[in-house]
Amino acid sequence: MKPLVAIVGRPNVGKSTLFNRLIRRRAALVEDVPGVTRDRHYADASWGDRTFTVIDTGGFVPGDQDVLLKEVREQAQLAVEECDVILFVTDGRAGLTAADEAVGALLRKSGKPVLVVANKLDSPIGTVQALSAEFFRLGLGEVFPLSAEHGLGIENLAGTLLDKLPAKKEGEDSEERPDDGSIRIAIIGRPNVGKSTLVNALLKEKRLVASEVPGTTRDPIDSTLTYKDKKVVLTDTAGIRRKRSIAHRVEKYSVMAALRVMDRSDVAVLLMDATEPAVDQDAKLAALAEEKGRALVIVVNKWDLIGTDQRRQEAYREALKYSLKFVGYAPIVFTSALTGSKVEKVVDIAVELAEQFRYRAPTPQLNRLLDHMVDNNPAPIVHSKPLRLYYIAQVGTAPPTFALTCNVPQGVPEMYKRYITNQIRKTFDLRVPLRLLFKERP
Ligand code: GDP
Ligand code: GDP
Repeated sequence: MKPLVAIVGRPNVGKSTLFNRLIRRRAALVEDVPGVTRDRHYADASWGDRTFTVIDTGGFVPGDQDVLLKEVREQAQLAVEECDVILFVTDGRAGLTAADEAVGALLRKSGKPVLVVANKLDSPIGTVQALSAEFFRLGLGEVFPLSAEHGLGIENLAGTLLDKLPAKKEGEDSEERPDDGSIRIAIIGRPNVGKSTLVNALLKEKRLVASEVPGTTRDPIDSTLTYKDKKVVLTDTAGIRRKRSIAHRVEKYSVMAALRVMDRSDVAVLLMDATEPAVDQDAKLAALAEEKGRALVIVVNKWDLIGTDQRRQEAYREALKYSLKFVGYAPIVFTSALTGSKVEKVVDIAVELAEQFRYRAPTPQLNRLLDHMVDNNPAPIVHSKPLRLYYIAQVGTAPPTFALTCNVPQGVPEMYKRYITNQIRKTFDLRVPLRLLFKERP
């Protein structure tokens, strides 16, 4: 797992500007998952030899402008509970405010590494130091003067940040998790959708005999099952929550918890509550799985409260597919964790998806598919040239990743990418996210 770094502070101090600086985002590189309106509030950043995930906690708060002190404190609390290092951003020109002091007190008690940032100090060094001096009153040590907007002070801040990260663990940067033969499933979802009930129901299933191998679960939130001779490790993100104090009340926590376990999972099982239509938070979690390139099973739980009408289920499925178009490949299962109905099917599908996730397509078949695609769909014009696709090869798994050699790798239209993705999906029956890379002919 990569270390987590949180950016906290009251609205308008420049958190999202700093976030963008840290992840070194260039606007053109940001690809949005179509269908979700969202700003990205978390992204991986690389500095020196480390990669870490930065979370702009302010971004989780709706209507930033009229955020209450309570919410800023809640954010800070969440950051304290979940993150490894906290960047506490203040407005260096406005000086310390009551809200800053309240958050400062909370952070001081936490014992977590905190770096105080005095932002908006765009002026020369002398002034900068004078301005940032009052922030020492927070009792959080060194104060980092910064102009997030102009990129001043970033290198210095990032350098200290690297020192504060927990010691580097082996393999923490790798996107592909090690293949030790087990299938790792993360159970994600908003609070109260039934995650823990589902895990408990699965652990009671006689056919899913929990394996007795000691040391198989490295984490108390992991449970190990055996399904069709395969070792399956379930991670219940609600379990993380129960160990903590306040975070359980906070809906946005589910995104943070999912973020934490996603990197080491093959499959995300996203639980939703059948009695509450898909909400923004569900979409965010689905988008996270797509973005991280993890297989996804959508589980509509509490179906016992809806009834047994088959048509109702089909209508629900259609509506859901429509609102979560960007993960249209993900299978949907209707369950009742309470009665145990269809819970085994969740594991069954997750195991199947885990296999697809590591699938390797035979090259001859891929090349036949390429010919077929080229013949059947007129090449789009890119930069006033017709797009020519020369070769295709699978260059990775988990998720399956395909490289296409072509004449104009930049600017292949989204429509055409979707066409290719769908064709690959259909040909090899892959209901997992896929990645395409376009390369120029060497
Ligand atoms: P957030 O609400 O804390 O995420 O703050 P934003 O990053 O959205 O920034 C709020 C405003 O402050 C925006 O208008 C930014 O352009 C501005 N801002 C951010 N950083 C700086 C800075 O270093 N100097 C100046 N002068 N303005 C800044
Ligand atoms: P979590 O926060 O996602 O782990 O949710 P819990 O597993 O704690 O469940 C929240 C509440 O929903 C509890 O009262 C459960 O008994 C209830 N619940 C969970 N699954 C079902 C279900 O399939 N049907 C019904 N009717 N209630 C459920």
